[in-house]
Amino acid sequence: MIGLEVHAQLLTASKAFCGCTAAFGNAPNTNVCPVCLGMPGTLPVLNRTLVDYIVRMGIATECRIAPRSILARKNYFYPDLPKGYQISQYEEPICTGGALTIDLDDGSRKRVGITRIHMEEDAGKSIHDQGPDTLVDLNRCGVPLIEIVTEPDLRSPREAYHALVRIRQLVTYLGICDGNMEEGSLRCDANVSLRKKGTQALGTKTEVKNMNSFRNVEKALEFEIGRQQGLLDDGARVVQETLLWDADAGVAIPMRSKEEAHDYRYFPDPDLVPVLVDEPWIASVRQAMPELPEHRRDRFQQELGLPRYDANVLTAEREVADFYEQSLRALEASSSASRENLAKVVSNWVMTDVLRVAGDRSVPVSALPVTPGRLAAMIGLILDGTISGKLAKDVFEEMLVSSEEPSAIVRRKGLVQVTDSGAIAACVDTVLAAHDEQVKKYLAGNEKIFGFFVGETMKLMQGKGNPKVVNELLRERLTSMKV
Ligand code: ADP
Ligand code: MG
Ligand code: ZN
Repeated sequence: MIGLEVHAQLLTASKAFCGCTAAFGNAPNTNVCPVCLGMPGTLPVLNRTLVDYIVRMGIATECRIAPRSILARKNYFYPDLPKGYQISQYEEPICTGGALTIDLDDGSRKRVGITRIHMEEDAGKSIHDQGPDTLVDLNRCGVPLIEIVTEPDLRSPREAYHALVRIRQLVTYLGICDGNMEEGSLRCDANVSLRKKGTQALGTKTEVKNMNSFRNVEKALEFEIGRQQGLLDDGARVVQETLLWDADAGVAIPMRSKEEAHDYRYFPDPDLVPVLVDEPWIASVRQAMPELPEHRRDRFQQELGLPRYDANVLTAEREVADFYEQSLRALEASSSASRENLAKVVSNWVMTDVLRVAGDRSVPVSALPVTPGRLAAMIGLILDGTISGKLAKDVFEEMLVSSEEPSAIVRRKGLVQVTDSGAIAACVDTVLAAHDEQVKKYLAGNEKIFGFFVGETMKLMQGKGNPKVVNELLRERLTSMKV
């Protein structure tokens, strides 16, 4: 039995309760003010966009949006927490009782309950690896987060993986989080317990933290399930505790019990009024909701005529879907071919070449040197007959290392397809003259040899001959020889 607690850092311009920028990557302790530093006498003011964003996620996961919810103080001592508490939600969170639909490996789908989604602020960051002292960077202090808590509905590490993939897909489509696990803008703690088949009561759970990739969540759960299984098989008991995943060693190690002995003494924050979200507010969020993945997938099938498979691959990640649509739009602006034809051609290029290169380089498609505009320009050259599909592969590779326009690459590398029948006829004649033996065999009825002549002619033309014209002329010449 597995339940996830996922923290997503929100892409608001400013922090949760002050006007400091929430941007990532600035010099330490530059994005701070008296409010987020917890100076006495300052007062927090709730960021309205934070509420918009969490309501977006609540709607996308079919949660009940509470008309009234409470911000609470979660008290603990840590050097990177100047106020001595985080502002969070406890007893009355804003979103409750929702569900996610996840896609499993065998193609089936499964509903996973969402217990709650609440808002909170992040703490600062302790830095231990820059000399003997511990340093503190408070830039992240007060940056808005949402915490998404699932029911213990997941039944395998793989299901947990798919649930996380789905949560990442939703927050990125909604534009509320960049979904980057490696950089920590999406963080996942996994709770797991075992129970005997056929029994109903939940077993004692442990919580595993510190996984910084999807793969590591799966691996950490596999490890922890094995560990609990070993204990239970030996007749021992599982102790409820928190473990930290060590990705290098491939093991989860219990935190010292003192470190996890938390009593947060939650209480409503007296500095903040209750959050009241009325129907018009929810309606306005609903109206401004970006398109969700299933809708986009269906639209790609219906509006663009793409096969289900293509629509699924292209919409799995918002970035890829954006890249695809931008490429298609750019191509449509310059081509007279039908929309359905263009849609499929662009889909083929994005699904094979673009995704392959992004995968090889482990970068998002937006970081590739091939932009939608350049891809569209290249496909345009195929459609107008300037280059063949085969030469286009070379142009594509060149576009990865040069910022030139595709037409400039074609010119520089002399890749322009030869359609001039005079030039092709000359090559055809040379090839036929040089292969007397094969010509005789062909004329004697061995039709299979035709492909050999095509290959030789293309070779002579360094691959630049228009295949259609080459075929036509070869046929013409050989037929005339038969007579
Ligand atoms: P805690 O108080 O320890 O944080 P919660 O009840 O808030 O526990 O649940 C936290 C997460 O743990 C949720 O995702 C929930 O689904 C999951 N969970 C709770 N009990 C179990 C259990 N017995 N086995 C597996 N997961 C569990
Ligand atoms: Mg909890
Ligand atoms: Zn501030």
